[in-house]
Amino acid sequence: MAYVIGQKVCLWQEDIRHGMGVVVLKEVIVTVTEIKTGVPGHWSRTPVSSQSLRGIGDDGKVYEKHWESWPESQTNCFTDQWSMRDDGEGDDPYWTPKEAVYAYNDLSRYNSGREVNVLVRTDVNGNSILPKGDFVHCAVHDLYGHSGQCCFKCLIEG
Ligand SMILES: [Zn+2]
Repeated sequence: MAYVIGQKVCLWQEDIRHGMGVVVLKEVIVTVTEIKTGVPGHWSRTPVSSQSLRGIGDDGKVYEKHWESWPESQTNCFTDQWSMRDDGEGDDPYWTPKEAVYAYNDLSRYNSGREVNVLVRTDVNGNSILPKGDFVHCAVHDLYGHSGQCCFKCLIEG
């Protein structure tokens, strides 16, 4: 999957309220202005093939996705996250922007097949909220992706 210059990527700051749902405290639409690959892994220092991004948010601020180095852990590839920053909403100023298309899919997967304890995502006013910017949506599987991406469930079935 490749990001392109000019792509509008929707980022969310989520507050997961146990047993209640997910509240999007902050939403930013970032227009990608710079792309590079091959930044070193944070621990291994081995160059990664993933795309590091830099862009300008609709709030006028610069947003970066692992621009200097790529975070590494056993359990997370950090593709859905941007670099942590300190201008969040709520009690904690520190937040890690999450790409809305992935955030949406995570909750959709969690709710899939569930008839009780279905979690909903709302904005701070209690209204339901969907990814914005450049995206594709598969109505069959209710999954989102970045423009140009195919629904992986459709790929598997097709
Ligand atoms: Zn699909």
